[in-house]
Amino acid sequence: MSKPETMKAYCFSEIGKIDLIDVEKPKILKPTDVIGKVLKATICGTDLHIVDGHMEFITVAARKRPGRGLALGHEAIVEVIEVGSAVEKFKVGDVAIASCVSSCGHCFYCQKNIQAHCINSEGLLGCYLGAEIDGFHAEYTRIPFADHSIFKVPKDQPLEPLLLLSDILPTSYEVGVKGKVQEGDNVAVIGLGPVGLCILMTLRLFKPSQVIAIDLDERRLELAKKLGATTTINPKKEDVMKKILELTTQEGKKPGVDVAIEAVGTSQTFLTCQDIVCPGGKIANVGVHGGPAPLNLQDLWAKNVDISTGLVSGYSTEELLDEIVKGKIDPSPLITHHFKLSEIEKAYDVFRNAGETGCIKVCITPDDE
Ligand SMILES: [Zn+2]
Ligand SMILES: [Zn+2]
Repeated sequence: MSKPETMKAYCFSEIGKIDLIDVEKPKILKPTDVIGKVLKATICGTDLHIVDGHMEFITVAARKRPGRGLALGHEAIVEVIEVGSAVEKFKVGDVAIASCVSSCGHCFYCQKNIQAHCINSEGLLGCYLGAEIDGFHAEYTRIPFADHSIFKVPKDQPLEPLLLLSDILPTSYEVGVKGKVQEGDNVAVIGLGPVGLCILMTLRLFKPSQVIAIDLDERRLELAKKLGATTTINPKKEDVMKKILELTTQEGKKPGVDVAIEAVGTSQTFLTCQDIVCPGGKIANVGVHGGPAPLNLQDLWAKNVDISTGLVSGYSTEELLDEIVKGKIDPSPLITHHFKLSEIEKAYDVFRNAGETGCIKVCITPDDE
């Protein structure tokens, strides 16, 4: 038998251990698969949680591949280089946005636009690429259910900004904004990490009257202003509650924000949402909590508040792509740092130390580009 062709992949093998190694190139395993050459990839906060061992089922999946581990990464733009026999929408040479959710397109959950729970998933949830099977921090990746999980890039569209369509733009939109924010609302976004900044971008589609951005980092507050925040609050410098009361006190209405969007995932920020939401308002929790979060139901019941949360399904990817093509959303200011695949270890460091480096999202390109 001839030696299999190899490629470089950044593989997570044990808590705290991730290395750029040579692995076998991926092959089509199912007729609905495609193989993509990774043209652009980025790193997500989730990748850091995986490396730190915060997601046990992924650590277990990595340990099942001794001496190798799992290639991380679930956000990428790919060029299709091989198609399975049942793939209808793609051909070799197509350039596509890969969603972080791989979904069959026809099961009960896919029909309901909760692709995150696709029953035909090869993993625990819909987002198993770069988690339970090899992802995009590699030269090539096998992508399951291509017809429903990758989206063709329109001709001449710059690729780099589209990286945000793999995960964080749909996450911010589906979990934080769509069905929550209405025209004229007072909205607060708590936490201006990459997802919080994407919330600001997608919010504008619904024409809120006030957008109040809250974060401890002055650089991110400055960027928030450019992305449409009407007011910024730094809790280190100002009392959030007092400022919100000031901003939302108006004739004929009780004070507070109509929609409080949580984009951090801490008890403190979730409590802030509960404090600042107005009667009849909504709390949208987008941040991922590492443990139980306090819920003051004893106060909230009498406020008639809706609370929602969720995992991205990616059903809005094409809708958001359309807004980017029309120029209504421009994610390019969020890509702050650039690396080659061979420099991926450095890219992880820069992304992890965002407080010092000012990094929001990185863009990783192949070495031969
Ligand atoms: Zn992600
Ligand atoms: Zn499905």
